[in-house]
Amino acid sequence: MTIKKFINTVFMTEILKGMALTFRSMLTPAITRQYPKVKRSAAAGFRGEHAFVRDPETGREKCIGCGLCGAVCPSQCIHIYTSEDPETHKKIVDRYEIELLRCVYCAFCVEACPVGAISLTENYEYADYSREALYMTKEKLLANWDKFMAGKKGEEYFKKFWHPQANDFAAYAGQAVFNHKPKVEGK
Ligand code: SF4
Ligand code: SF4
Repeated sequence: MTIKKFINTVFMTEILKGMALTFRSMLTPAITRQYPKVKRSAAAGFRGEHAFVRDPETGREKCIGCGLCGAVCPSQCIHIYTSEDPETHKKIVDRYEIELLRCVYCAFCVEACPVGAISLTENYEYADYSREALYMTKEKLLANWDKFMAGKKGEEYFKKFWHPQANDFAAYAGQAVFNHKPKVEGK
């Protein structure tokens, strides 16, 4: 037995340390928040309920129906139904649905989206009693955008939490680059 261990055993220092901790916590006032009367705001970037970005110019969803979010989703809980506009031949997103009960809130869908059309909001109060209420449709997702992310908030969200962005791929100073074919004199 080492001297330190011997002293600890004789003077029961571990017990005294534990008692000191107990007394200290007795003197610290308890902090109990009376939820839901008292609420804490979620930190920026909190991964809560989803929202579908509304294009301010068209007023419609920004989504182009590429399906990347659905492909990357580890829970396979995103369902996208598209059709083709007969005149413009552009894809129309007829339905965009997320099963929240299967979502793991990884935000891969946000990162994979090439146009920044899906986000996670700071809303954590969406518990409900039915599965239907937790099955997000395009309309519900757009309503979430209007409610939680419209305006500057949405812009800030994508600046901070949508990665990778174009400038993440910027070449650093001195990085080797391909040069054009050298110009041959007289040609
Ligand atoms: S947050 Fe993750 S699990 Fe949820 S829908 Fe997006 S990719 Fe799927
Ligand atoms: S949300 Fe983004 S990744 Fe998903 S289908 Fe629409 S454009 Fe593609």
